[in-house]
Amino acid sequence: MMFDMPREVWEEPGYTVAEHTNSRPVNWALVRQVVIHYTADKRANPDTAQYLRNMQRSYVNNRGYSLGYNVAVDQQGLSWEIRGVDYRPAANVEVNNTTYTILALVNWQDACNGVMVDSIRDIVQWARQQAGRRLEIVGHRDVGSTRCPGDGIYNQITGNVFEPTEDLDMRIINPPVRAYDSRKQQGRFKPGETRKIHVGRNDAVFVNLTAVDAQGWGFITAWGDGPMPDVSNVNYNVGMTIANSAWVPVAADGCINVFSHAATDVLVDVQAVAS
Ligand SMILES: [Zn+2]
Repeated sequence: MMFDMPREVWEEPGYTVAEHTNSRPVNWALVRQVVIHYTADKRANPDTAQYLRNMQRSYVNNRGYSLGYNVAVDQQGLSWEIRGVDYRPAANVEVNNTTYTILALVNWQDACNGVMVDSIRDIVQWARQQAGRRLEIVGHRDVGSTRCPGDGIYNQITGNVFEPTEDLDMRIINPPVRAYDSRKQQGRFKPGETRKIHVGRNDAVFVNLTAVDAQGWGFITAWGDGPMPDVSNVNYNVGMTIANSAWVPVAADGCINVFSHAATDVLVDVQAVAS
């Protein structure tokens, strides 16, 4: 996710998020929900940078830590990085490890306007791609004792308004393309082996992962860049041939990483791409 406004745009020295946050990075393997909040202000300041600076000062001075939200969306539909992905939220007591948090800068209990809805849908869709699964969209009041995010936004949540619509940039591949077959390329995975598999230059691919004739208990994990996430996409046992589908972000070199816990053959079929 490229935030429209990285936090350097609004931060001021002495009150940066980094200086007042010691949370760990967002761990997508743990995230289950996207939580939407409001500010409870009667009127959001149209100068969003100034508004965020003031809120951050107030948080640091009164609570001793940074604004607890990951991203704010203003009435122009711009997304403003707060904690981004560098720090877990501190906005939803008890569930900060399992949530990604959006602050919607509406006036009081207003609903989000059209451009805000579009922006939030984009964030939800991106978050689901990061997590590799469907994250539930909830209001702060669903996970805490509060009126937040106000009735306007809450009605939009229960009306599924923030569900990403059919992504015009998503293409179903019919029939699916077999991107990898270890039986024909490189042979069976060794226990604990990771292979890079080329799937083309897309933001994400929807793949069917199949373990064929697994030699032991284990699982397959697929991911894009960076360290392996703490999730399994296919779980198998001795002698099994079993498949499962997942959205997987694609690394900049057009590859995904595929790890197998035990020895097994692996098939990767691309069913859809998002770019
Ligand atoms: Zn809230």
